[in-house]
Amino acid sequence: MASAPLLALPRKEFEERILDWGGRPFHGRVLRREVLTRGVLDPLEMTGLPLALRQRLAAAGGLLPGREVQRITAKDGTVRMLVSLDEAQLPDGDAPGEQTIETAYIPVTKRDSDKGASLCVSTQAGCPVGCPFCASGKLGLARNLSAAEIVAQFARGRALGPLGRCVVMGIGEPFLNLPALLEALAIVRDEVGIGGRKTTVSTVGFPERLDRAAAQQPPFQLAISLHTVDDALRARLVPAMADTPVAAVLAAGDRWFERTGREVTYEIVLLEDVNDSAAQADLLARALSGRRCSVNLIPFNSVSESGYRFPAAQRVRDFAERLTAAGITATVRRPRGLDVGAACGQLRLNR
Ligand code: SAH
Ligand code: SF4
Repeated sequence: MASAPLLALPRKEFEERILDWGGRPFHGRVLRREVLTRGVLDPLEMTGLPLALRQRLAAAGGLLPGREVQRITAKDGTVRMLVSLDEAQLPDGDAPGEQTIETAYIPVTKRDSDKGASLCVSTQAGCPVGCPFCASGKLGLARNLSAAEIVAQFARGRALGPLGRCVVMGIGEPFLNLPALLEALAIVRDEVGIGGRKTTVSTVGFPERLDRAAAQQPPFQLAISLHTVDDALRARLVPAMADTPVAAVLAAGDRWFERTGREVTYEIVLLEDVNDSAAQADLLARALSGRRCSVNLIPFNSVSESGYRFPAAQRVRDFAERLTAAGITATVRRPRGLDVGAACGQLRLNR
């Protein structure tokens, strides 16, 4: 009797299903609130709905698309979930075999001032960009996620506790699935209460896609995975961008700032002896000088046999200090949940 999961249905079908089951038109809205605002996933506990409807929902099973197949909690409280996607509702063509995505729930630490955990969400099953240091791209792209599959990650995250922030830095390249992401973020803003100032989307920075998105004043902060300003090295580190000069990416970042009024953060994954030298730091500082932007350094974090190594802490500090000395705001990302399989994409790859 259960066909597609209720919260994966288009709005009209969703509402019809609620009416079929004896609910009232506004019960659809109540149901979304229970799941996304209150974090209740068990229909029987949805006290805002009449008992008969709760029982119908429970009997039908499967509210959310996908199925959690693995959950690992790190010592620092970070929870990584591996979710197997439903094959039945592929939005764009089929991909054989089980497809999985990851979501990470990252609780606040005492050092954070704001309330609620950060949720790191995926936008694609796999990734076509192929960065050699990243586990997510190892198997290529399987398919884009639907808006419902993105929203479902927030539902599962909210069930673990209050959410205060969202980072779109899980598996996949968000700008290759932007319509679904924007649809999902609108729901997340209304129901979960995470708006544009608390949402960061990370991308490798396709210039035309950035320009098109900037024109619509998208509800998020932008982070661009730059990694280096050396064209030859970036072509190796971000293969899908091999034909896009770094200058074109930086120019697109400038236009983003002009059009949205929001500064871009440039992310640099620091790889030992690849892009972590003083010379690389100085090149970066020179390229960014005079630009309204900041830099986020991410020490490489992986347990795979990618061949890359993480730089020593002192080297990371030196890199940051060279940027700061040149007048560029640089922060170092603290690694979270390291004891449970390090970087995003690795649960999926291990499976
Ligand atoms: N595809 C997008 C968003 C997902 S990756 C992007 O590349 O920006 C989010 C961030 O994690 C990116 O900055 C990416 O470079 C970084 N990352 C990927 N693999 C990593 C690893 N093994 N260690 C540290 N950071 C990594
Ligand atoms: Fe894709 Fe981002 Fe991983 Fe590169 S770093 S392969 S763009 S997910």
